[in-house]
Amino acid sequence: MKLVFLGAPGAGKGTQAKKLCHFLNIPQISTGDILREAVLEKTDLGLKAEAYMAQGALVPDELIIKIVEKRVKEPDCRDGYILDGFPRSLAQAEALDQSMSKKNESIDVVIFLDVPEDELIARLLERNRDDDSIEVVTERIKVYKNETEPLVEYFQSRNLLKRITGIGTVDEIFEKILFALESRKDSFKAQTA
Ligand code: AMP
Repeated sequence: MKLVFLGAPGAGKGTQAKKLCHFLNIPQISTGDILREAVLEKTDLGLKAEAYMAQGALVPDELIIKIVEKRVKEPDCRDGYILDGFPRSLAQAEALDQSMSKKNESIDVVIFLDVPEDELIARLLERNRDDDSIEVVTERIKVYKNETEPLVEYFQSRNLLKRITGIGTVDEIFEKILFALESRKDSFKAQTA
């Protein structure tokens, strides 16, 4: 099963994607985690990405698309994966679509975690990450609205979107995700069998 987690910064994508990955026994591909590791290790990618991340801007599409294309070719992705934090722009979504259709593959479902903006800001300011100062948080939410939010419509029109209200405890939200995936039971069963 190949899934995408879509949602604003602070919506809980990472937490829920991690739980679902354990449940389905497929890898979580978090572009944010890959980038943070690259920054720590001061790799070429890390040096290129660092300034964008510190400002709350998106890292250029070409860089991100290459990372994801390389990662999904690894053997642990054979039975599926969860993309967490990618795609984040229309160009990324189109690149994903193209590279998947070349392989005769497609995304099975997109989980959209919907959380009101005041709640997002409160959560992000509690999180204490380097890029979670009030200025950077505001910028990340602005970038989300301009660049990423149009993907809700993009995936909805392809009939792939499952909208989940991301309010409640971690377990309550996870239950809602499992319930939403019930309608994709065939691929779901194959995965957990
Ligand atoms: P995240 O952990 O997903 O919130 O990502 C942290 C930061 O990494 C973002 O604010 C961006 O600067 C960068 N980033 C992560 N994923 C992407 C992506 N798909 N496209 C562009 N930039 C990204």
